[in-house]
Amino acid sequence: MKILVCVKQVPDTNEVRINKETGTLIRDGVPSILNPDDANALEEALKIKDEHDDVTITVITMGPPQADFMLRECLAMGADDAILLSDRAFGGADTWATSNTIAAGISKIGNYDIIFAGRQAIDGDTAQVGPQIAEKLNIPQVTYVQDFKIEGKDIIVQRQLEDGYELIKVSTPVLLTAVKELNAPRYMSVDKIVKAYKHDVKVWTIDDLDVNKEEVGLKASPTKVFRSFTPEPRGKGEILEGKADEIANKIIIGLKQKHII
Ligand SMILES: Cc1cc2nc3c(=O)[nH]c(=O)nc-3n(C[C@H](O)[C@H](O)[C@H](O)COP(=O)(O)OP(=O)(O)OC[C@H]3O[C@@H](n4cnc5c(N)ncnc54)[C@H](O)[C@@H]3O)c2cc1C
Repeated sequence: MKILVCVKQVPDTNEVRINKETGTLIRDGVPSILNPDDANALEEALKIKDEHDDVTITVITMGPPQADFMLRECLAMGADDAILLSDRAFGGADTWATSNTIAAGISKIGNYDIIFAGRQAIDGDTAQVGPQIAEKLNIPQVTYVQDFKIEGKDIIVQRQLEDGYELIKVSTPVLLTAVKELNAPRYMSVDKIVKAYKHDVKVWTIDDLDVNKEEVGLKASPTKVFRSFTPEPRGKGEILEGKADEIANKIIIGLKQKHII
């Protein structure tokens, strides 16, 4: 079985703070990490490899050269191979152009059974790339996968809903997007870290892909970010005093004013 995992290197948004004076984001010293949902996606692939023979896992990312570091982290967790799609022509892409590039990379790899992606990346936060890749490869997809098992030739997944889950049977090839409830990602192992740094990470540029050059990168993106800004700090908290029912009343009035209830 050939499993591909789409992984993205993201800034650790937990570490991004706001400069109160200028209202801008402080990005200095913010580490880049493997996107958390993608770690769950990779872990699920590794679990399949633990339990079945003849499983190979390839991680693929589109990003700048420094994404090599994250790919080696994936190798050190247990992935067999890593591919970096990196070219200035891919830069500034929105989700449509991003998924065109990644789908072209996946088509070049070919013969895959399962593609895992994360539900969402913590920087762009759109949750669009996985489903768009599936559309472009013309394969079925199940998003928000919180449980996974193989039964013969079928794959049975639980798809998380707000108030429960759907049980879905799919056959391969399929693209699945992982949520954090799916599993607990493993740590890298020391021997695999050493191997990861001896491993050859393949770098593919635009010339290596069978992709329409007009359909990747900033120029091809149907959406453009024309302004980005730091949200206003929240208003100060208020301490309510009085009897319990008076306080409850004030809370209800306040929530109604803010259209929360
Ligand atoms: C309107 C708009 C304009 C943008 N303009 C720019 C821009 O000018 N410059 C810029 O740098 N960025 C830009 N971006 C951000 C860029 O589109 C996203 O970083 C990228 O498309 C991924 O989307 P996301 O982060 O929302 O991922 P999601 O869709 O939330 O990610 C879901 C999953 O898809 C997979 N995935 C996502 N991205 C990658 C990747 N690169 N490689 C491998 N797998 C991946 C991962 O498995 C991930 O968990 C823009 C985004 C939007 C919405």
